[in-house]
Amino acid sequence: HTITRPPPTPSPLRFSKFFQANLRILVTGGAGFIGSHLVDKLMENEKHEVIVVDNYFTGSKDNLKRWIGHPRFELIRHDVTEPLLVEVDRIYHLACPASPIFYKYNPVKTIKTNVIGTLNMLGLAKRVGARILLTSTSEVYGDPLEHPQKEEYWGNVNPIGVRSCYDEGKRVAETLMFDYHRQHGIEIRIARIFNTYGPRMNIDDGRVVSNFIAQALRGEHLTVQAPGTQTRSFCYVSDMVDGLIHLMEGDHTGPINIGNPGEFTMMELAETVKELIDPTVEVMIVENTPDDPRQRKPDITKAKELLGWEPKVTLREGLPLMEEDFRQRLGVPKSQNN
Ligand code: NAD
Ligand code: UDP
Ligand code: UDP
Repeated sequence: HTITRPPPTPSPLRFSKFFQANLRILVTGGAGFIGSHLVDKLMENEKHEVIVVDNYFTGSKDNLKRWIGHPRFELIRHDVTEPLLVEVDRIYHLACPASPIFYKYNPVKTIKTNVIGTLNMLGLAKRVGARILLTSTSEVYGDPLEHPQKEEYWGNVNPIGVRSCYDEGKRVAETLMFDYHRQHGIEIRIARIFNTYGPRMNIDDGRVVSNFIAQALRGEHLTVQAPGTQTRSFCYVSDMVDGLIHLMEGDHTGPINIGNPGEFTMMELAETVKELIDPTVEVMIVENTPDDPRQRKPDITKAKELLGWEPKVTLREGLPLMEEDFRQRLGVPKSQNN
């Protein structure tokens, strides 16, 4: 096989052309948080057919209920660690639990999902000639010794820790993507996603933004894990979905960081949530988990230059949108609280 190299500059014209084509698109993990928002966006285009496969480990049919029964939509209960036979043009491969409490719950299964699941999706891409995008993660940088993180940084990852099933799993998934690209000429795209938040996150999935919002709405203490000076950079989900589509339909394999470079300490995040939702709740310092990265912030120069993408929604704009969704799901109307 010869590997055709994409042209070096982004091409908005090509990008818009793809959007006029009929495409059958597979989204693995499409019943999850980011996946279901991606499906909403893809379904807006009348020329797209969307197939979701999901084993419902951390996702739910509820996230896709508006599309069930739609003639351009199909939902299949399937585990990506098993072979899959479908005919598609694009594969957005998201299937993998993303929250530490879920990916640590059954670490061997997490590795199988990352390694065997990605291998199967690459085998599928090879058989049908589809382009495949992997949602990798900022966790491939581990506890980074460079800040902010550029794509060239190789990372500082513990290979035998409790997070390794996830971060080493994603690193192998990236390796598989590049080996299929080099060896079989598969068209690949790799997104390195940084912390993403928004409506439909699992309320009790243990991630920091969902925890703080749920705690503030329930009138509980906000649990800042020690020391509270560790940082993260939070991207609103609609920006993330736009970034993924730009990457898929652009000309660059990546890996490309997709995230919002606005960086906050966990203490600052707690104070912001407190101020926005309920100034009377208290912040409590609690014990942290092992191998927690001390800082994380994407360098998004590549995404800006190669994809013409950058995030638009600030944390202060995004949090209230998530608050509204959490209020509905928790049954806490605005008037009761404020
Ligand atoms: P999520 O847990 O809400 O969604 C993952 C989906 O994959 C769920 O619907 C789950 O049921 C499904 N799934 C898990 N294992 C599966 C398997 N073996 N077979 C089929 N389906 C399976 O998580 P999310 O936040 O939407 O994350 C989506 C992707 O983005 C993941 O690959 C994750 O690693 C990546 N990512 C997310 C973040 C973030 O902040 N949310 C950050 C970095 C990377
Ligand atoms: N595979 C799949 N769907 C397909 C084609 C392949 O799930 O349409 C799986 C297949 O079962 C295998 C993996 O993808 O486990 C890798 O396939 P490939 O053809 O690259 O390797 P091989 O089958 O030769 O090991
Ligand atoms: N965190 C926190 N309180 C919580 C949950 C998490 O202070 O209730 C901290 C955690 O220690 C980490 C950061 O928030 O430093 C982000 O954690 P999360 O699990 O959301 O994502 P990660 O980036 O670690 O995958």
